[in-house]
Amino acid sequence: LIIIGIESTCDDTAVSIINNREVLSNVIIRQKIHKKYGGVVPELASRFHDKNLYLAVNQAIFLSRIDKYEIDAVSFSLGPGLIGSLLVGASFAKSFSIGLKIPLLTVNHVQAHILVHFIQNANINNSFPKFPFLCLMISGGHTQIIKVNDFFKMEIIGSTLDDSVGDAFDKIARMLGIYYPGGPLLDRFSKSGYSKKFNFSKPNVNELDFSFSGFKSHIFQFIKKKLKKDSFFIKNNLADLCASVQRTISEILLEKIHKATIKTGIFRIVLAGGVSANNEIRRNFILFAKRNKKWEIFIPKKKYSIDNGAMIAITGLFKYKKNFFDSINVTPYTKFQKF
Ligand code: ATP
Ligand code: FE
Repeated sequence: LIIIGIESTCDDTAVSIINNREVLSNVIIRQKIHKKYGGVVPELASRFHDKNLYLAVNQAIFLSRIDKYEIDAVSFSLGPGLIGSLLVGASFAKSFSIGLKIPLLTVNHVQAHILVHFIQNANINNSFPKFPFLCLMISGGHTQIIKVNDFFKMEIIGSTLDDSVGDAFDKIARMLGIYYPGGPLLDRFSKSGYSKKFNFSKPNVNELDFSFSGFKSHIFQFIKKKLKKDSFFIKNNLADLCASVQRTISEILLEKIHKATIKTGIFRIVLAGGVSANNEIRRNFILFAKRNKKWEIFIPKKKYSIDNGAMIAITGLFKYKKNFFDSINVTPYTKFQKF
């Protein structure tokens, strides 16, 4: 089965073609325009998807060395995401499906971040996780612990009560004067920093839920106080600040997942979403799994942590096999709905 996956939920235009679980091409066109605004401008994002999508599709077909008539189905992200961006992807996918007379498959972007682990060699383990597993879904829009029983049997057992962890990375980066894309840059600056230099208090949230809004304010107040005494505080401590924030966030995530393993008796952990590209989080989880023999940890290769077309294609493939086809009347949604 040859499936084309189209991803346009936010600012990056991503298209991939897979043949069963093997990736034939994985194209991503990034939108640099948002850099000068310090964050994604939705209107501009839609316009650039419109400009870039057919280029990405053509390139994906070219790199796959297939003819477009060999494609068996088209899969695309129906949501959650920015409505304008989603509509561009949806219109393209629908037209493609009508033009080539092939079935249409719609995908939940969050579910796709998880199912990318079923692409051949998508994670650093180079193996597929067995069911059931616990997924730590950490991205720009979501922070959840999901009990995954099967491909389409997923249950959220913990969730953020306010902001996502990706948002915390991005906003704290901004406080430190590092702009878009905040998370990856904060990661990079941390490399030369001492992560135990500053200690920040962690949010106190019940059970398996998360909260990052108070944590963000805590860091903001901390920096403000320091700047009053020393206006060069950030400049002189940037790497240490980044490393300390990153360590704290990584500890918050690890503590919660640890709790979830005990609660569920499931010790197979799968990381998913853009924030799982973070070096400290990856290192911390790998280290913990080394010390706890019960743990089995799956981490996506970085190109499959961030948004990509392959995750949309593979989720479409599993839907195809279950005959979960969609009609041309489907409409995108912006907020997370159930799996
Ligand atoms: P969602 O998947 O929830 O709909 P999204 O698609 O916008 O949201 P992703 O692309 O999965 O989110 O992830 C983007 C987020 O990941 C951003 O907040 C970004 O800062 C963060 N991120 C990416 N790389 C890193 C990194 N190395 N360290 C920390 N954060 C990172
Ligand atoms: Fe995403």
